[in-house]
Amino acid sequence: MVKAVVGANWGDEGKGKITDMLSKEADIIVRFQGGANAGHTIVNDYGKFALHTLPSGVFYDHTTSIIGNGVALNIPVLFNEIKEIVDRDVPMPKILVSDRAQLVMPYHILFDEYEEERLAGKSFGSTKSGIAPFYSDKYAKIGFQVNELFDKEALKEKLERVVVQKNVMLEHLYHKPALNVDELFETMMEYRDMVAPYVCDVSAFLYQAIKEDKNILLEGQLGSLKDPDHGIYPMVTSSSTLAAYGAIGAGIPPYEIKKIVTVVKAYSSAVGAGAFVSEIFGEEADELRRRGGDGGEYGATTGRPRRMGWFDCVASKYGCRIQGTTDVAFTVLDVLGYLDEIPVCVGYEVDGEVTTDFPTTGKLENAKPVLKILPGWKSDIRGITKYEDLPENCRKYIEFIEEQIGFPITMISNGPGRNEIIFR
Ligand code: GDP
Repeated sequence: MVKAVVGANWGDEGKGKITDMLSKEADIIVRFQGGANAGHTIVNDYGKFALHTLPSGVFYDHTTSIIGNGVALNIPVLFNEIKEIVDRDVPMPKILVSDRAQLVMPYHILFDEYEEERLAGKSFGSTKSGIAPFYSDKYAKIGFQVNELFDKEALKEKLERVVVQKNVMLEHLYHKPALNVDELFETMMEYRDMVAPYVCDVSAFLYQAIKEDKNILLEGQLGSLKDPDHGIYPMVTSSSTLAAYGAIGAGIPPYEIKKIVTVVKAYSSAVGAGAFVSEIFGEEADELRRRGGDGGEYGATTGRPRRMGWFDCVASKYGCRIQGTTDVAFTVLDVLGYLDEIPVCVGYEVDGEVTTDFPTTGKLENAKPVLKILPGWKSDIRGITKYEDLPENCRKYIEFIEEQIGFPITMISNGPGRNEIIFR
């Protein structure tokens, strides 16, 4: 069976933890989109890890971890990550890399930096991992697939062609040093040697695995609101964050995805620019940020403080719907135990009217949150393993949100650890 684990919000919902937990029952875990621009934080028996490229299943020795064709593959980052976990005594994971995955080129990262610099105050808040230039090139058909590394002549010829175009931009738009084809080619050859042992026809591998009834997890990065089509365009990422794209980014039939576990966080956080209706500021935000996640709400890749807000029913209802949710995993609920009262955003006021439908970006910029105040439970819920044992106000919070978003909350995460989960 194929299951997807995806986010309903702006990312950082705790997908890493949920994937790591579900990986216990999985044979194969596949990353199908995105790149090293976001990170998953995972706490398990080996310690605490921030993964950017590796699937969150790498900590089990019974799983195969796959980088699908939809991923922006940064080979040095992948290899550093493998080294980092192996150096910390995690057994060498079984890894396969799609022969159709495309490479993040060193110049993608440069272009990302230069563009943010050029836009200055109007930037997107990119993590400068090269993701937007990478996907631009992919769809402009000047990207490089892993398999192209193995045809030296064709590679050299194509590199020469692409570099001409890049150098025009570097010289005339960014006023930066030109690229050198020979150096780039050498780097590509190093990449080839690094990736060679792992290259695989992933869609054929998965086709066989599905036939053999293996359990496959598709692991998404970021969340619905960062999807380039359905998110807060243009303050989005450059690849689809939706479960539906899992079929494409892994190379499997869409109808094989039977379960879509959408991870929803018990409060809101976001990184980068863009409208964020239920955002809070000042001391109120600082306290939630400090207490949030596992050791504070700071970016796993960048260390940037995340923007904080109350739970947003409008955004989450939409985020779950657009994912095609079958199950909601409701995470970091334990963090809210300090609050006397918990505000929840139940509607948006746009041009004098209240709506619970998530609007397009222009309207979103003008939306004001309609808040409902729920009573807090004022206690630590970590360690609780049965739904009935949660404090009454805590259950009421969960049930209120479930009703608002309209999708079943079947898992509740009450701590960062692998086993801190309540099934309902
Ligand atoms: P992802 O990108 O969706 O995987 O999310 P991140 O890893 O960026 O953020 C989730 C953070 O919350 C990580 O530091 C996790 O260890 C932590 N976390 C996940 N679930 C829980 C939970 O239920 N309670 C607490 N306190 N922390 C959690």
